Amino acid sequence: MAEVLERARRLEEKVKAWRRHIHAHPELGMETEGTAAFVERALAEIGVADVRRCAGTGVVARIEGRPGDRCVGLRADMDALPVEERGDLPFRSTVPGRAHACGHDVHTACLLGAAELLHGMRDAFSGTVKLIFQPGEEGAGGAARMIADGALDEPKMDAVFALHVWPDLPAGTVGIRRGAVLAGAQSIRIRITGRQGHAAHPHRCIDPILIAGHIVCSLQSVVARELPPLETGVLTLGQIHGGTAGNIIPEEVVIDGTVRALAKDVGTRILESARRIVEGTAATLRGSAVLETSEGLPPVVNDDALFDRMVGTFKDLFGPDRVRTLPEPSMGGEDFALFLEHVPGAHFRLGVGAEGRTAHPLHSPDFYADESGFSMGVAGLAALALDTLAR
Ligand SMILES: [Zn+2]
Ligand SMILES: [Zn+2]
Repeated sequence: MAEVLERARRLEEKVKAWRRHIHAHPELGMETEGTAAFVERALAEIGVADVRRCAGTGVVARIEGRPGDRCVGLRADMDALPVEERGDLPFRSTVPGRAHACGHDVHTACLLGAAELLHGMRDAFSGTVKLIFQPGEEGAGGAARMIADGALDEPKMDAVFALHVWPDLPAGTVGIRRGAVLAGAQSIRIRITGRQGHAAHPHRCIDPILIAGHIVCSLQSVVARELPPLETGVLTLGQIHGGTAGNIIPEEVVIDGTVRALAKDVGTRILESARRIVEGTAATLRGSAVLETSEGLPPVVNDDALFDRMVGTFKDLFGPDRVRTLPEPSMGGEDFALFLEHVPGAHFRLGVGAEGRTAHPLHSPDFYADESGFSMGVAGLAALALDTLAR
């Protein structure tokens, strides 16, 4: 394991350079053509020859070790966000209104580093390492599209791993947690229908704004009164639209929101309760309402056996002081969860917090990643693959 960390440290400057290039050229959603081409070029320079496109702008590469049947997947997301980057980094975003504010530039660079490391150690494992560079993590369905385009096949994976940068952890540490690490997420839309008419004659209308007010308040009782206190869920309404003028009772009000939960059945129960309240409240007030849901993401839940192994691997690799147990999961979502629906796996957080600097959250225009911990991301991914394939 010491050799893995040493090799990763030697790659540090290269990984930083890759990351800086990707950071300066952010691309959104499934439109990661430039990043995919950059990844392909880097893989070619490393000497990884078995590379193919997947779902258009995704890249899947394979590194073969000694003959063997087992396969481990390592996945990185590549897309940026519609955020205007603040600050004056020399490699700041060159595209107005776009930035790598979720650190996917770091994930991609660390996976390229792991590719170089594993390619150089291909005599040290048997079987296949599959590298998955995924577009469209930020709500564009990238994981689902790559899975539909065969990312799970040829060969099938025995385990899959991913990391996410974490500004609240200092650079030079990794964060791990048993069980759920990220929440399942589902978008909801509530459509409330009334009957439009003159504001002066409410009895001849059905007022969807009044119904919306009742629904907004009543939905708060789902988490407060229906969810057992020790279960975790969130129901947030983030957007509401209705009406065109103060003297018109409108026909329709639309409310958008999100439901988050750490277990699939909790999310399902929140949605069932919300639907009952939405429909019932509207009916009580003479209107009607429907609750529409998106496809949704399951929570990211670490496989217990792989998690136990990861703890051992990381403590060996980094020393116990650098491996932090996360006290709680994040209610953020991550479509790596879709890979975990098919393949057991584990997810860890890479500390990128800088000493003496405010830890601005992910998605913030001020998000900053300290580069000194990147070699731990490279070594962590590579070691998880080596360790699984050495068994
Ligand atoms: Zn994000
Ligand atoms: Zn992210």
